[in-house]
Amino acid sequence: MADEVLLSATRLTRRFGGLAAVNDVSVDLWRGRIHAVIGPNGAGKSTLTNLLSGDLPPSSGTIRLGDDDITGRSPEAIARAGLGRSYQKTNIFLPFTVWENVRLAAQSRAQHPMRWLRRATSFADTNERAERALDLAGLTARREAIAGAISHGEQRQLEIAMTLATAPRVLLLDEPLAGMGTAEAERMVQLLLRLKGSHAILLVEHDMDAVFALADRLTVMVNGQVIASGTPAAVRADAGVQAAYLGEER
Ligand code: ADP
Ligand code: MG
Repeated sequence: MADEVLLSATRLTRRFGGLAAVNDVSVDLWRGRIHAVIGPNGAGKSTLTNLLSGDLPPSSGTIRLGDDDITGRSPEAIARAGLGRSYQKTNIFLPFTVWENVRLAAQSRAQHPMRWLRRATSFADTNERAERALDLAGLTARREAIAGAISHGEQRQLEIAMTLATAPRVLLLDEPLAGMGTAEAERMVQLLLRLKGSHAILLVEHDMDAVFALADRLTVMVNGQVIASGTPAAVRADAGVQAAYLGEER
């Protein structure tokens, strides 16, 4: 499985009234690579994620997923085409078990138009996809736990398991380490490293240690615009980035 561009966004702009929350941003996501997007609050990182997932239509620009132009398609159609995302706010059903949550997420992918013809196969497929997602996310031992009773870090792992259960090729992760302690964050970093071999990943994250541990490519956004993009080493050395962003952190 050679590395290849799985998602390509070209010159995306999204306006809210007079504000260009995302302004002429292009990004390619490669299988086997983590592309981190950093920037201060309000830079447009979540808006960019929402454009790529179809949760928001762009004002202009195009998005290709594999060979398909997915610009303007619904989030459901984009998910079916192979894009999975986690949200900054959680989507977990707290009264249900870990397994039930992952199983439901896997089922959402199985809403095939011919499903009445494929019930038996689709049931086995769905269970298998859910099992694999649980295992990949490192939650097999917690499958019978009630989602509302597991730790914050495990809930974020569960979110990722639910995203994986839809069998995506491209993953968009908006601040997966938010609110985590050191040990939880380290576990999530290891999980993301495991996932990157078989996925193209866009990672929006504030934790700079994690970003520099994980990112193969790094894009810095400020006020909707890309001010630098390249290898983490090149971006770290960029004087404009240090002045605008990294400088205030270190
Ligand atoms: P980040 O995720 O980098 O913190 P956001 O993408 O959430 O930034 O926001 C970028 C800018 O767009 C902010 O100024 C924010 O207030 C604005 N914005 C985001 N979503 C909306 C919306 N639905 N309507 C109006 N303005 C929005
Ligand atoms: Mg955000």
